[in-house]
Formats: sequence, C-alpha cells, structure tokens
Amino acid sequence: MPTPFDKPILVTRPFLPSLEEYQRGLREIWDNAWLTNNGPVLQRYTRRLESFFGTPNVCLFNNGTLALQIGLQGLKIEGEVITTPFTFVATSHALFWNRLTPVFVDIEPDTYTLDPAAVEAAITPRTTAILAVHVFGFPCRHAELSAIAARHGLKLIYDAAHAMGVTVDGRPISHWGDLSMFSFHATKLYHSIEGGALTFADSGLKKTFDYLKNFGFENETEVVIPGTNAKMNEFQALMGLLVLDHLPALIARRREIVARYRERLAAIPGIRLPPLPPSNVAWNHAYMPVEILPEFPLCRDALYEHLKTYNVFSRRYFYPLLTDFPCYRDLPCRDPLTVARGVADRILTFPIYHELALDDVSRICDCIADR
Ligand SMILES: *Cc1c(COP(=O)(O)O)cnc(C)c1O
Repeated sequence: MPTPFDKPILVTRPFLPSLEEYQRGLREIWDNAWLTNNGPVLQRYTRRLESFFGTPNVCLFNNGTLALQIGLQGLKIEGEVITTPFTFVATSHALFWNRLTPVFVDIEPDTYTLDPAAVEAAITPRTTAILAVHVFGFPCRHAELSAIAARHGLKLIYDAAHAMGVTVDGRPISHWGDLSMFSFHATKLYHSIEGGALTFADSGLKKTFDYLKNFGFENETEVVIPGTNAKMNEFQALMGLLVLDHLPALIARRREIVARYRERLAAIPGIRLPPLPPSNVAWNHAYMPVEILPEFPLCRDALYEHLKTYNVFSRRYFYPLLTDFPCYRDLPCRDPLTVARGVADRILTFPIYHELALDDVSRICDCIADR
C-alpha cells in the first residue's frame, strides 16, 4: 500500500525564476521609479510577446478576464454568443459583463471543445459570435468553426487561457479567429503573477484596446471612450519576461510528466485517457485530465476524496458545468449538453507542475490504483 505524501501535492504550483534574476529586474524598476502605465519593462515585454506570437497585434492586461471582457467590447459584440459550458466561469462571466447572452452548446468527447455541428444548430438571427475555449490546451476545430462563422457572418473568438505555447502546423494558435485571449495567472502553465493578453487579426483594434484598458485616455486632457482600468504593471511584466525564457523547458518537463501518467494509468481499467492531439499540434501539456468510468471501482468524487487521504489534491476541472451555476441556470438552453454533462461527471485532473518528480507521479498512480 502506498504511503501518503508528507507534504500536500497540489494540482499546480507556479514556476518561479531565480530570486536573483527577479531582483535584478526590480533594481531597474526602482531606478526608473515607473511602476505602471505602460512602463519600459511592459514595453519590452510587449515586444517579446509580439515576436513570440508572430504578430504586432498584441495587447497586455492585468488579468485574462478583463482582457476577454475588453476584447468582446472592442469587437462590439451584441446579442447572443454561442459558447461552451465546459470551462472556467470567467469565459461566460466576460459575456455577462458585456450584457451578452451566452448560448451554451455541447462539446466533443475527445477534446472537450465546442462541437461545430452543435454550434451551427444553435445559430439564431440574434447570434453575433462564437466564443470557443481551447480547454486544457486542446485546440478547437478551427477549420469547421471558422467556416461556420464565415457562412453566418459571426465573429470567432477564442478563450485561449490554457493554450499558451500551443502551436498548430508550426504556428502559434494565437492567429486563429478574430481574437484570442491568453491568461497569465499564477495557476496557469505560464504566468506573469496575474496577467492576460489579447492577440487579434484587425490591427485597427489595438488603439481601441489601449483606450479601453486605460480609462479611454488619448492624452492628458482628452478622454475618447469610457474605458476601465485593466493595465498590466511593471512587476507583472518583469515576471512574465523572465518566465517566458523558461516556457520551452516548462512544456518539455510537463511532457515527461504526462508521458509517465499515461504509461502508468493506461493499465488501470476504468480510467479513460483523452487521446493526445494529432501530430501537427504541439500541445503544451497544460493539464492532466482523465475520465473516471463506471468500470473503475470508485466513482469520480470518491476517488477525488480517496486521493486526499494520500495528501494528493486533484481537481474536478470543469465541474459543475456553467449551466448548473445559479447565475446561468435559468437561461434557456435548447441543447441537452449530453456529452458535456457526462464529461463533467467523469472528469478529474491530476497534479502537474515542473517540480513534480516522475517518481512522485508513479506514486500518485499507485495511490489511484490502490483502493
Ligand atoms: C484562468 C481562466 C480565465 C481567466 O483568466 P484570469 O487571468 O485568471 O483572469 C478565463 N478562461 C479560462 C478557461 C481560464 O482557465
């Protein structure tokens, strides 16, 4: 029988650059005495991300949620937006803050991303956009979604909060659709303490986003639109710059962890591993989701509790579905969400972070196998 871990194994742990590196950057911030408002570190970080994403159309924010809210506002989306119920609450909250109506439709069983057929079936005269999520870093079916968007004159927006570092056919996923939002929250694979970025196709939007995140200021005396305050500060930008240097190594490390989990879990009946993305996708291994099937001796929630007795803290990402939260429960929903409901009841994500030793991954798998 495996022995419990001495210290809690949480589902994630933020990567931190060396304290000396961060202190060197702090020295520069102290010397500048410029803490926020498009400071020199933020400007440098923006240039780095422009080359990272391969586009000048990058705008940084103090978090991903405000980035998405502002993205929707800048695109002037109205009416109904078709979206997924299998995501973090911020996806549909961003719609709510723009007075948009989320129309939830079903997901696909292997990638957990929006089912294009379900999207097309839900289009009404009030539909103006599709808000899709690359959940766990698994790319959405972009070819189908963009064909539907083009056919019906809809905007295509991606919540790419989980998809930092994902490339498709060798290109960052950020060039898909009209706009993508990346979250740099400390719990994500890549972070700037808190932070977010928008990447977008129409370079004319850059100015709008800059206004919206800074009260609408054009200059000292002119305010052109009623913007909010969603600026990234210098300390966040410094963290983002330093962690970016380590992103390839962080992804490589997670690839090893995922490989170990998959090797050990494949042998356990009743655990379903979602298929890995196809070979043209360089996945970022952001999460380690599995489904707990009826053949497994414990139900999902019982396994989740069982692992806690070993000091292992898995998470039920994403359960409940957004449609089951009181704030969205009363919205009309024509789609039975059959796949999403099943997945939400079976899903469990296991600990994954750069410092997690492969031996500890094996030990977690022993805890899963031991009932
Ligand atoms: C984390 C997350 C967000 C919100 O990002 P923040 O930077 O935490 O505001 C939005 N959507 C999804 C899918 C997320 O996981």
